[in-house]
Amino acid sequence: MPHDKLIAGNWKMNGDIKLIEEFVKKFPNIKSFQNIEVLICPSFPYLGQAFEAFKRLGIKVGAQDCHYKTNGAYTGDVSSKMIRDLGASYIIIGHSERRDNYQSEDSHIFEKVKRAIDENLTPIICVGENLAERQNNDTEAVLKNQLKIFLKNDLKEVDFVVAYEPKWAIGSGQVASLPEISKTHSLIREIISQAFNMEIERSSRIIYGGSVKPDNSEKILKLEEVDGVLIGGASLDPQDFFSIVKEFKKV
Ligand code: PEP
Repeated sequence: MPHDKLIAGNWKMNGDIKLIEEFVKKFPNIKSFQNIEVLICPSFPYLGQAFEAFKRLGIKVGAQDCHYKTNGAYTGDVSSKMIRDLGASYIIIGHSERRDNYQSEDSHIFEKVKRAIDENLTPIICVGENLAERQNNDTEAVLKNQLKIFLKNDLKEVDFVVAYEPKWAIGSGQVASLPEISKTHSLIREIISQAFNMEIERSSRIIYGGSVKPDNSEKILKLEEVDGVLIGGASLDPQDFFSIVKEFKKV
């Protein structure tokens, strides 16, 4: 069965109680919007508060990461169960900023996906090439390699999202061209379909991330291959974020 489109905001290490309050004041109630899921992923400390505040608006909350173990002596870390307890329904996993900043990220990604699934949280698995890889025409190989771990393992009954986020487009103001987005999303769908049956292949969502803003979102959202967007900077402004949600409603 086809899923709702997903519009997800990643606040990264930004935002605070004041921003949550600003959203409550300025972001319209979208509970009546059909076929759209709207999600905000604040930092861990604000998850519970954001969940309580945003549920009245019809916005879900998610985390930006989780630990790869269920519990234990991991000072400063946060488990998927803790995230679930605070009302989250999604976890972003393998964001390029985490892959770059934490050497162990790549080797722990599949475990993190499993921890999310253990708690009935939908993983948003981030993939994407860097600039040098793009210039060397290595995008396909990079994506296959990043997705290999999930395809080797049994995710058949699982609802998951793949976020295609070319690294050079994140926070840079540069957006992948529309033909590039279509082509890469089709490629990702093909990689997934080779591993899973058609039903699973159709029901998994592939979303685009990388400098999505109100002025470029409409064209991206109209692409047949795009099941949603992951938004960094523009999700920190309730008006900008709502403009993008409105585009989706039109599409
Ligand atoms: C992101 O961090 O996932 C992202 C896409 O950021 P931005 O929209 O700011 O490029």
